[in-house]
Amino acid sequence: MELRLDLPLQDFYNGREIDFKIQKQQICDACEGSGSIDGKVDVCSQCQGHGAVIQKHMIAPGIFQQVQMACDKCGWKGKSIRHPCKVCGGNRVVRAEVPISGTVERGMGQGSKLVFENEADESPDWVAGNLVVTLREKEPILGEHEAQRTDGTFFRRKGKDLFWREVLSIREAWMGEWTRNLTHLDGHIVQIGRKRGEVVQPFTVERIPEQGMPIYHEGHIHEQSPHDEFGSLYIEYIVVLPDQMESGMEKDFFALFEKWRKKNGVDLQEDSGRPVPPEVEQHDEL
Ligand SMILES: [Zn+2]
Ligand SMILES: [Zn+2]
Repeated sequence: MELRLDLPLQDFYNGREIDFKIQKQQICDACEGSGSIDGKVDVCSQCQGHGAVIQKHMIAPGIFQQVQMACDKCGWKGKSIRHPCKVCGGNRVVRAEVPISGTVERGMGQGSKLVFENEADESPDWVAGNLVVTLREKEPILGEHEAQRTDGTFFRRKGKDLFWREVLSIREAWMGEWTRNLTHLDGHIVQIGRKRGEVVQPFTVERIPEQGMPIYHEGHIHEQSPHDEFGSLYIEYIVVLPDQMESGMEKDFFALFEKWRKKNGVDLQEDSGRPVPPEVEQHDEL
């Protein structure tokens, strides 16, 4: 018996208990699977418990063929119930809603399977199989539950690592002196930032170790261990240039650049030591 369970990324990060209900076939409690109201099951009088009867057909004068057929009184069961159970109607099983609870461990992967042994359909005639629950990561829904939405909505997972996209203004990227507090999936804060004068180039990717997903080991015990290992958090920086500058500001900046260019012969392009970046054109798209 298989089921799919969709969970948000937060649940894979923090781990959680899950409780749900399944519809399954269960052995009737009232008659303990006998099908009989008084527990009495008799041997079928017609087939003497064989479940089958032999019928003889004469296929030619004096020649008989023997055919084994299901007993029409008990239908292969070999037993007859005089007073069928009122709950299951003599079927020995009932359909019921059964609560299931289990644990999603921290760091479990997309597609992990939780196996609940012998929780599939029951029958007095066989050992119940396993219920297998496959975990899937639910796409975060933007705009829903705005109030309780955290930064977690925007983390993306790839195996043991997490990815985050941070947007910087040109002032921040160029001049430094900025900080951001990212609220992680369990609510702890990851602070990122640069000191004054520290430049962040567009599309730079910064790796922060130990801030990715907890690393799940098969057979891990339920308790959160203080020695949990984590993957990395990768932060990609996007730098946004203003579409339009206030005209006063534009004049000031332009004049300032001109002043420095004339005074020191500064060539910003040349001084940067970088080739003419074709990406510059891409900035228009942002
Ligand atoms: Zn019979
Ligand atoms: Zn019953």
